[in-house]
Amino acid sequence: MSVDFDAAVIGAGVVGLATARALAKVGKKVIVLESNVSVGQETSSRNSGVIHAGIYYDKNSLKAKTCLRGRVLLYEYLVKHKISHKKIGKLIVANHTNSSQLEQLFLKGIENGVEELKIVDKEYLGSCIPDVRADLAIHSPVSGIVDVHGFMQSLTGEIQDHGGDIAKLSKFISAKQSQGDGKGWEIQVSCGGLDSERIVISSHWIINSAGLLAEHIASRIEGMPEKKIPPTYFAKGDYFAVSGSCPFNTLIYPLPEKGGLGTHLTLNLGNQALLGPDVEPISLDKNNLDSEQPFDYSISETKKFQFHENTTKWWPSLKIDQLQPAYSGIRPKLNPITEKPADFIIQNSVENDIIGLINLFGIESPGLTASLAIAEIIESYITKH
Ligand SMILES: Cc1cc2nc3c(=O)[nH]c(=O)nc-3n(C[C@H](O)[C@H](O)[C@H](O)COP(=O)(O)OP(=O)(O)OC[C@H]3O[C@@H](n4cnc5c(N)ncnc54)[C@H](O)[C@@H]3O)c2cc1C
Repeated sequence: MSVDFDAAVIGAGVVGLATARALAKVGKKVIVLESNVSVGQETSSRNSGVIHAGIYYDKNSLKAKTCLRGRVLLYEYLVKHKISHKKIGKLIVANHTNSSQLEQLFLKGIENGVEELKIVDKEYLGSCIPDVRADLAIHSPVSGIVDVHGFMQSLTGEIQDHGGDIAKLSKFISAKQSQGDGKGWEIQVSCGGLDSERIVISSHWIINSAGLLAEHIASRIEGMPEKKIPPTYFAKGDYFAVSGSCPFNTLIYPLPEKGGLGTHLTLNLGNQALLGPDVEPISLDKNNLDSEQPFDYSISETKKFQFHENTTKWWPSLKIDQLQPAYSGIRPKLNPITEKPADFIIQNSVENDIIGLINLFGIESPGLTASLAIAEIIESYITKH
């Protein structure tokens, strides 16, 4: 039987697109299935747009490795393809009372091999960035911001230039192994939104890069052992835009909190300041995950009081009426927020006991930064098998 595609990637977020681009570039015939009307409408366009240095993650974890490698690949990519980005650096601020936590974080960053990290004192902060109130900070000059949409558009263009397909409004429904011979997959796809027609395509490989729905998708793949599908814990993060002129030209983070990196100040490429994301565990009705929009991205305006209180600890002149609700994103976490953050899972066909299947679970932050490195791991695995 002839097979339509070498690889079917489920999900056109930044990780699915980066993966499809890597496979298309080495000559694989690729299709990306995306249920939305366009690419990158879920977590990939609902984040801080920060290129992370790689400070926070455990040594030798996949998060640490793919963040560091991904950052290098990403900056190279952005320069080569002329995509807007700025290496504006980042400060993680603290006071004397939590200075030991800051020092531990600094050592973690050094252990991970993050370049150019240093600790700066109050005098330095007072002279360079007088609007910040802090006793000390980690300064990471290699951190930056990126035009995420520009990056995803560029990946999309490259996939198509290398003969790949991006099938929008094409929802993965289920997959079963072709004739049970382990030589590929028959994938049922629903095309065109409501009242949609169903088609079947075939592919040697499935890469489940469905972000928030990766657990749900894995459960629709014939033969996937239930015990190898980790449960997802969803944690929402809201953002507030800051009106008026912003006195900062760098990213400013507090120390990390349970479940997140702390409600921080990020800037977009137009110099608009944003505060966020906070961390709010949410539960989803797992029977509703096939609906048109299973996620509630609305923001409660009353949260601005909490945002203001948290932020004025290090930005005392911020006024509450400068805060306007902006947008929110949801993290697919593999542990409840009360527990230590879990690592990314890139589950290959040896680990999941199924030939021709790779599942990506728990691709929360720093998934944007790490995307090209995750893609590199998957491309190398598929090329060797
Ligand atoms: C609040 C927040 C802030 C963050 N900030 C940063 C940051 O500053 N820097 C950083 O490096 N990382 C950050 N991240 C992490 C980063 O945004 C994610 O890791 C990354 O976007 C994940 O990309 P993805 O492709 O795995 O998932 P997604 O972008 O969610 O893409 C998955 C795609 O799969 C599609 N899909 C789902 N089910 C189906 C189906 N049945 N059929 C077809 N398609 C389907 C969805 O529609 C979606 O488009 C942040 C995350 C959050 C939530």
